[in-house]
Amino acid sequence: MAKKTIRTIPQERTPIPEQPAAERVNNFDEVALGYRAEDALREAERCLLCPDPACVLACPVAIDIPGFIEQITLGDPHAAYDILTEANLLPAICGRVCPQEDQCELVCPVGDTLEPVAIGRLERWVGDQALTEGWQSTPDIEPQPFTVAVVGSGPASLACAADMAKAGCAVTVYEALHEPGGVLRYGIPEFRLPNRIIDAEIENLTRLGVRVECNTLVGRIFTIEQMVEQMGFDAVFIGTGAGSPRFMGIPGESLHGVLTANELLTRCNLMGALDFPRHDTPVDIGSRVAVIGAGNTAMDALRVSLRAGAEHVYCVYRRSRDESPARDEELLHAEQEGIEFHWLTAPIEILGDDDGRVRAIRCQSMALGEPDESGRRRPVAIAGSEHDIEVDTVVYAIGTKANPVIGQTSRIDLDDRGYLRADDDLATSLAGVYAGGDIVTGAATVILAMGAGRRAASAMKAYLGIRDTDVVYRDRSAPEERIFGIDPGERNHVRLRLPAPGPSDRVPATTVAMTTRGDTT
Ligand code: FAD
Repeated sequence: MAKKTIRTIPQERTPIPEQPAAERVNNFDEVALGYRAEDALREAERCLLCPDPACVLACPVAIDIPGFIEQITLGDPHAAYDILTEANLLPAICGRVCPQEDQCELVCPVGDTLEPVAIGRLERWVGDQALTEGWQSTPDIEPQPFTVAVVGSGPASLACAADMAKAGCAVTVYEALHEPGGVLRYGIPEFRLPNRIIDAEIENLTRLGVRVECNTLVGRIFTIEQMVEQMGFDAVFIGTGAGSPRFMGIPGESLHGVLTANELLTRCNLMGALDFPRHDTPVDIGSRVAVIGAGNTAMDALRVSLRAGAEHVYCVYRRSRDESPARDEELLHAEQEGIEFHWLTAPIEILGDDDGRVRAIRCQSMALGEPDESGRRRPVAIAGSEHDIEVDTVVYAIGTKANPVIGQTSRIDLDDRGYLRADDDLATSLAGVYAGGDIVTGAATVILAMGAGRRAASAMKAYLGIRDTDVVYRDRSAPEERIFGIDPGERNHVRLRLPAPGPSDRVPATTVAMTTRGDTT
């Protein structure tokens, strides 16, 4: 085959079909409809199959990206799926929600001249094929005499549970809510990530023998210490996330009509709030909603408010569009749908009526000053610029904190921000107890949480004396373990560390600096 060059590949990035904005604001169906086979093949042809691929180093779980894309060009999506799932158990999910533009696609050399290869869309296409066709990468599991508990059921926990089940342990996942999936389920709306995709991926896990116990708030029903000392678990993983809300501390926050984004999203996505009276948990957001913040969570809250019936939905953000931490795609979709953006606008008070309900939000206009510690230009208040925006509901989307229950009810050491303290192997201060994902790093991303779950599983196997190579796959050799770590103090700047060469012949030590753009203010 002739070597591909930038001149010989298809020049245009293959567009992904989308529901038109005017239609989609009236439903929760998926916005991006996914590639057809011919689209995937055409886009895969744009990959130069670099022998020394930067995209693999920029992927937090080091997927063999040229490897899976080449299989698409060869007409073997099943082989592409096998390659993908060596590193990433949830390709249909990550293909939809990973910030590829800041990771693999950012360093794609095609992007130096043209638009980069649409790696995320190709990952999604392969993941969807697998779900449609019922493909599974089934390992031969050699049973081990160990029981493992996993607390929480977000991506960190799902990844850890899968690896421990494949290693032969009896795994039970305990989830506080009545449905598993963590933020994937209660936070990210169906129009970005349909529940059927999450259900299918969790079903794959139960096929490996993992038991999922919902409605179980660990720390209140039983403690971590009881799990180890009385319930007989040989090892425990904690992936309880960072869903606790943050407020600004301005007057009026206790008025009726002030919500947090996670509260709004959980009610709509998980509690059937929009299906009243079939579900008895309605949300009354009125016709004008202001969402404070401009990260991904804010975009979700804005777009859900629109679909929940609000006529005017305002995004209020103290910095400019350029500093918005949201993914470009989410921002663009919100703009297309008619969200009204108040950039360089900082709320200073929430005003109420005589019944204690929100009636307006008082704001101040801002100008951009010198860069602050986050590298973005600091917003500076413009004197005399106070103005009111009349609203019925105010939604806070300015970031979150650690879910506190485990910290309050166990002896595990916490860091000074209240997150669980874990060492490089993600071991906590309690023997046999590991932790990872947002509860250790602070709010990050799905793929980073999954990578942490896998890294903890690797350490748990070592703790229990199970060799990683005990995982034997029927149709291919054992997956190469790739790991990374996060400096807990770096809120918006996550360093990816692939491991140093060691006895298990891991990939060479490399450090890649990446920016994760959380929902910061
Ligand atoms: P979580 O997903 O938070 O899961 C933690 C689970 O633990 C929850 O189910 C919780 O109920 C449960 N739990 C908590 N305490 C207990 C307890 N005591 N006992 C039992 N269970 C407990 N990232 C992306 O990469 N792309 C996106 O597009 C994206 N969009 C997002 C949109 C929103 C609205 C939000 C909030 C986040 C988004 N993120 C996104 C971030 C990403 O979802 C998180 O970083 C990721 O889900 C963290 O995974 P986790 O497993 O650590 O925790």
